[in-house]
Amino acid sequence: MKVAEALREASTQLAATSDTARLDAEVLMAHALGVLRSEMLLRCMMDPVPAAFGGFVERRAEHEPVAYITGEQEFYGLNLAVAPGALIPRGDSETLIEASRKAFADRDPPESILDLGTGSGALLLAAMSVFPEATGLATDRSPAVESIVRRNIARHCEGRTVSFELADWHQLDWADALGSFDLVLCNPPYVKADAALDPDVSEYEPAEALFAGPEGLDDYRVLIPQMHRLLNLEGVAVFEIGASQAESVAQIAQTAGFAVEIRQDLANRPRCVILR
Ligand code: GLN
Repeated sequence: MKVAEALREASTQLAATSDTARLDAEVLMAHALGVLRSEMLLRCMMDPVPAAFGGFVERRAEHEPVAYITGEQEFYGLNLAVAPGALIPRGDSETLIEASRKAFADRDPPESILDLGTGSGALLLAAMSVFPEATGLATDRSPAVESIVRRNIARHCEGRTVSFELADWHQLDWADALGSFDLVLCNPPYVKADAALDPDVSEYEPAEALFAGPEGLDDYRVLIPQMHRLLNLEGVAVFEIGASQAESVAQIAQTAGFAVEIRQDLANRPRCVILR
């Protein structure tokens, strides 16, 4: 069978479980061929189907996310390694990078950046690409992410001062040795405990990166009051939020003594809060 025909068949098969069946099939085919999708579309349509493709399609038909099958995901123009154990970076989270860029537009760029609950390292590495002179620290409580984030640091920040530390903000004294920063980024778990998620997410992505108590607010309640010690005097913290959480998180932050701004994502849903 030729690539073109296999793509048509796979698109039909995947349409039962995916809203992006054709795209999924193309990305998996390009991965099986070992070429970029654009190159495949231009040059490979009449090639024989590589042996690995069928297995990739079967996995996708079982709801496994494309990014876990290919082992990579683009975020803010960076190609990142991803694997089960680390949340797959979402385009929505790029809102936090744009918000950070704007927050420092009229002043000196941040010299130090902290990413709490870094997962694949997406937020930190994207911020490091915007602020190339900064030093960076990524933290996560999950040992499963360590090899993934270290790979991404090596890939994108060679020769720069970027490190990773295991740290769990639910533990006492967890932040004692971290220091203080000009910019803190955080995409904490914020999904309500009883939320019904897509099986792509609920069956494959790490629950500890998603769920945060009955209202999805548990991690904000723990973290935001601690931002005083993690931020330098003029520092800025940017937290991702769920679309319905702007008011609740703003209230937590105001109670903790911060000035608060909300930013929308490309779909115009509230997506991050900026604390000063
Ligand atoms: N945006 C993610 C989702 O809806 C949730 C990420 C998170 O909890 N930080 O799947």
